Amino acid sequence: MHELSLMEAVRDQALAAANADGAIRIVAIRLRVGEQAGVEVGALRFAFPVVMAGTIAAGAELGIELEPAECHCAVCQAPFPAPQGCCDCPRCGTISRRLLRGRDLRLLSLEVE
Ligand SMILES: [Zn+2]
Repeated sequence: MHELSLMEAVRDQALAAANADGAIRIVAIRLRVGEQAGVEVGALRFAFPVVMAGTIAAGAELGIELEPAECHCAVCQAPFPAPQGCCDCPRCGTISRRLLRGRDLRLLSLEVE
């Protein structure tokens, strides 16, 4: 499962940050997930307690914020919302394949003790 390895990367990053802070426990982890990141939020939530078990982040709360996807139209020189991935510009109809945002998963913030 792809979400499991993504969550492992989040865990490593969170543990490193908490460690640098001298934290003894991670209470909450917030992630931002792009609409077009190709991950399932349900699978992330499922993977979370599995990968956090046995670390200082065990039992932490998981917050997920969805980031809307946006494409760039080269004709209009402007972005437009693209919830289904790159598609045609609502203003001029040109098909854009440049996804500006909404395609990654990143660690937004940590709450530590
Ligand atoms: Zn356009």
